[in-house]
Amino acid sequence: MHHTHTFEKANALASLALERIHAEKLLPTPENFELWYVYYSEENQDVRRAVDILLEAGERITDEHCYEIHNQFLADNTENERVRQAGDKIQSTIKDVKGIVSNVKKATTQYSARLNDIAERLGDHEVDKAEMQAVLHDVVSNTKDMIRQNELLEEKLSQSSQVMLELQRDLEMVRKEALTDSLTALSNRKAFDAELSRIAREADETGQTFTLILLDIDHFKSFNDNFGHQVGDQVLRLVARTLTEGVKGRDVAARFGGEEFAIILPETNLQGGAKVGDALRKAVAGKEVVNRNTGDKLGRITMSGGVAQYLPQENLDDLVARADAALYTAKHNGRNQISAAPAPGQKKAAG
Ligand code: GH3
Ligand code: MG
Ligand code: MG
Repeated sequence: MHHTHTFEKANALASLALERIHAEKLLPTPENFELWYVYYSEENQDVRRAVDILLEAGERITDEHCYEIHNQFLADNTENERVRQAGDKIQSTIKDVKGIVSNVKKATTQYSARLNDIAERLGDHEVDKAEMQAVLHDVVSNTKDMIRQNELLEEKLSQSSQVMLELQRDLEMVRKEALTDSLTALSNRKAFDAELSRIAREADETGQTFTLILLDIDHFKSFNDNFGHQVGDQVLRLVARTLTEGVKGRDVAARFGGEEFAIILPETNLQGGAKVGDALRKAVAGKEVVNRNTGDKLGRITMSGGVAQYLPQENLDDLVARADAALYTAKHNGRNQISAAPAPGQKKAAG
């Protein structure tokens, strides 16, 4: 962990962390210590929120909770560690192959020198039968050696390419995980930011437009309070699934924040975006939430949404801010609805 606190501050945070671990009857592991240290330092909003959700829900904090939160927000070094290990493996595989190739080169040089010797011996003078046999024996045994060396090389090379393939798959998985929200399996915020930039660049190049929808679950806090955060998490997955089913092709559905989602619709204008937003809103509102453990019906959830259309060359923070302002309008006007942001300079929403 990288922290730049003064000695006094670090000491105070460490004390708070240890006291808390003791008070919650948690195991004094390095991970639990890091979690609570970071929690009290208030420097990681994800950790703060995840812990606060538990506290607000009045749940006892267990080692499992701590493990999950640590794993989700603080253990991203495992990703770096995996990339580092893959890098090491690539290095050592390259070294192996280099070693084998240079051995074979040496052997080939020796072999051809040996053949030259033999040719000279044969060319110099008359050879009798015994000498001829000895020479042939020599050639055959040298050739066998050479073939063995080549087989070894082939085998080693195929092993190496197998290792490289596995590494490639590993790295691809790490890359995917780094861009995926672990709770909902949607694109995470990092992936969303990258996609938004990419789609904006594409739009500028082709003269096309695109539309952004921000969706936020209505009264989610009270849902969490009533049913517990695990059911809340289940709802987040249900919403994610519904959004994924409701978009198509090149559309991007992402988890934008805690209970906020973002949809990017390439080649779509404000009216089109508002339509899609409303269809998604209806799809979510149409599903009944069922507690998976008890089978209890917990009612329906609704979402509010804000839609904004990209303006050529626009700063993406401005686009997000306009969608967010429209979302605020939808909340203000009674929730469970979609509001479209007028383009700057326009007075009324087009959707
Ligand atoms: P509004 O209709 O105005 O959006 O009200 P709200 O209660 O949804 O909004 P608020 O921002 O006050 O609360 C959001 C809540 O979402 C806070 C937290 O309890 C919950 N939340 C955020 N992230 C998660 C999560 O990952 N899991 C769970 N279970 N709950 C979360
Ligand atoms: Mg919210
Ligand atoms: Mg909300």
